[in-house]
Amino acid sequence: MSLLDHLQTKLDAIAAQDLTRFLRPAETVTAPRQTVRGADGVARELLMFCSNDYLGLAAHPRLADALAEGARAYGGGSGASHLISGHSVAHQRLEETLADWYAPHIPNARALGFCTGYMANLAVVTALGDAEAEIFSASLNHASLIDGARLARAQVTRYPHADLEALRAALAASRAKVKLIVTDAVFSMDGDLAPLPQILKLAEEFDAWMIVDDAHGFGVLGAKGRGSLEHFDLKSERIILVGTLGKAAGLSGAFVVAHETVTEYLLQAARPYIFTTASPPAIAHALITALDLIESELGQQRRNALVLLQFELRRSINALLARYPRLGWKLAASDTPIQPLIIGDNAAVMKLAARLEREGLRVPGIRPPTVPMGEARLRITLCATHTMGDIERLVRALSTVAAEMSAA
Ligand code: PMP
Repeated sequence: MSLLDHLQTKLDAIAAQDLTRFLRPAETVTAPRQTVRGADGVARELLMFCSNDYLGLAAHPRLADALAEGARAYGGGSGASHLISGHSVAHQRLEETLADWYAPHIPNARALGFCTGYMANLAVVTALGDAEAEIFSASLNHASLIDGARLARAQVTRYPHADLEALRAALAASRAKVKLIVTDAVFSMDGDLAPLPQILKLAEEFDAWMIVDDAHGFGVLGAKGRGSLEHFDLKSERIILVGTLGKAAGLSGAFVVAHETVTEYLLQAARPYIFTTASPPAIAHALITALDLIESELGQQRRNALVLLQFELRRSINALLARYPRLGWKLAASDTPIQPLIIGDNAAVMKLAARLEREGLRVPGIRPPTVPMGEARLRITLCATHTMGDIERLVRALSTVAAEMSAA
């Protein structure tokens, strides 16, 4: 029983810090409304502010049709890893389309598909971060980049959030043969953008490479939805881009686009690519439709809708915060659909999230270790399919709770 006792002690410690996480099976999950069965067994529709389905494509009928069409053409699973027999023409076509998308940004690029963004990040960072490399990692990077750096043989140097001087100093001090700067493009718990143009300049100055995780920029940023490289109009062979396909693309999967020598090396050496079953070809098939939707007029309209929703959310939450300054709540400075409302205390944020749920709203409370201690927050995320009325409903509920809390 010693393992169970050992684990129970750790679970008790997690609970004592109000950090226990719970699974909530939903009967429908597509944004922005889902049906969740409560502890009382009653199913309720919740208005969600937590999905990464930013463009609302997961529920688009063309995507469901493409998935069905793909399943009819290719069947279910791929049956093997890419290098054995699981690589289909659908995977190949998806990779070619993505390579074309990024040709203006990364010369001589090729794309490589992955089952998830977590695995793509592990693959890139572990394969390129060999014993002769040094990794320069942004302090607020996603867990998958952090885990990749932990597994890599390379020396790892973390630089403080958006601190270009610290990054410059670390690059200047490095004697490593290969220098890899690793950063989220949009920081997932804060919503702010990394200063990619300045980081790229440093990469050029110090002969380093820039690995960019654009999980939250892909589909959302840039006129055509090509993400942070389009947003900042960047072009360089030094860019190694990771994009994910389970968020704005509305399905699942991920890709790496980089100079063809980099992708060829990943194909030969990246263990999370080599030793796993390829994703179902039907998903790759449907993703080609998702890319089409992202760059279509519908995609553009949805990106415009997101900007308007963001503006209205910030305007009305800031007005609310001005009415209740003593609560100490703070809206993070974010220009993306990720709009965190920082509350501070772990228990307070969970109480707030539970209270909002009683009002029919699902907004996740995010606590340490996902965010720093004392910075627990409601992570509000917007989808293009939210309405202005949905925003009003959220802000009205927040005002009710703010009034209750400041009276208490
Ligand atoms: N990078 C970032 C910044 C993310 O937010 C996520 C997903 N939460 C991932 C990578 C992992 O992507 P996936 O969900 O496809 O594994």
